[in-house]
Amino acid sequence: MKRVTLTFDNGPTPGITERVLDVLSARRIQTTFFVVGERLAAQGGRALAARAHSEGHWIGNHSWTHSAPLGEKPGAEYARREIEETQKLIGELSHADKLFRPMGGGGAIGPHLLSRAALELLQQGKYTCVLWSSVPGDWKDQDGWVDRCLSEIAVRDWTVVAIHDVENAALPRLPEFLDRLDALGVEFLQDFPDDVVIMRRGEGISPLLSQIMR
Ligand SMILES: [Zn+2]
Repeated sequence: MKRVTLTFDNGPTPGITERVLDVLSARRIQTTFFVVGERLAAQGGRALAARAHSEGHWIGNHSWTHSAPLGEKPGAEYARREIEETQKLIGELSHADKLFRPMGGGGAIGPHLLSRAALELLQQGKYTCVLWSSVPGDWKDQDGWVDRCLSEIAVRDWTVVAIHDVENAALPRLPEFLDRLDALGVEFLQDFPDDVVIMRRGEGISPLLSQIMR
């Protein structure tokens, strides 16, 4: 049986995130929302993250500004602000494992994702650093992402899908996507397989790290 873990990045987005939550709750699927600090701080952001949390979704950290990837601005202060300020704002909504997903690059896995300073901060702060195995590009192709994602799921045992609760992205075809996964008999999990996790609670650095940091 194929396994799929769904994740929603770059929100919360008023007008979108609540509808994503409605779709998920009707199907009893639990996911992770990797939130952007600036969006969490904006009007309506916190209430949406709190609702997601109360409905059993996990809240992860996806940087403060979602601008330059950490590997492109290697200073310690940049890493601290992007990671720690967001974590502080997430506060009690955080998953106990302090889930963090590096931003940038449109889903490409490469050395732009992490700096040495960011790595040290993640280790010291006992974060769990989570990547992905399918980034079907919902934000740039609102129709084509569904078929692309299904074909990626078909060739893996357990796929971690990164899609987006932002405007003009996954929402319009999310119900259809989930229907098609159901029809395939996919099992939905909330957890993350080792092949997308760089470290868990600051420990057990994955060989993948060499691909995402210079
Ligand atoms: Zn992102």
